[in-house]
Amino acid sequence: MQCEICGGKAVTKAVVEGVPLDVCANCAGHGTEIKQPHARHVPEISESTINPDFSAMIKQARGKAGIERKALAEKLAVKESVLARIENGMRPDNATARKLEKALGIRLLGFSGDAVVQKQVLAEITLGDVVVIKKKRK
Ligand SMILES: [Zn+2]
Repeated sequence: MQCEICGGKAVTKAVVEGVPLDVCANCAGHGTEIKQPHARHVPEISESTINPDFSAMIKQARGKAGIERKALAEKLAVKESVLARIENGMRPDNATARKLEKALGIRLLGFSGDAVVQKQVLAEITLGDVVVIKKKRK
């Protein structure tokens, strides 16, 4: 993009004498700079945030599935002692957590992300209720 005033490297847009132009940093001062809308801030969702109840979830899911701890450890290619420690509250590394998710059909990682999604769903339900109420009043 070229500066439409001096031919330099345009970095922004500015309204100069009523005309929106691509301008360089120097020429932007001649007009009113058009502020680019800031990229919407997306809250960072940490995929590695683990559900704080992970140990209970793993124990419960394993019990439900009727898998011996030793068998599950073999399936995950971890030591049984490591799995025992995880079930007692030691945070598994992400790779192991992923394997546990797959093997047991549970969701351990991305915990905060789920919380955000749930909030959005709730907001949508509220909005829908408002629409229904308005229709009833007619
Ligand atoms: Zn310029």
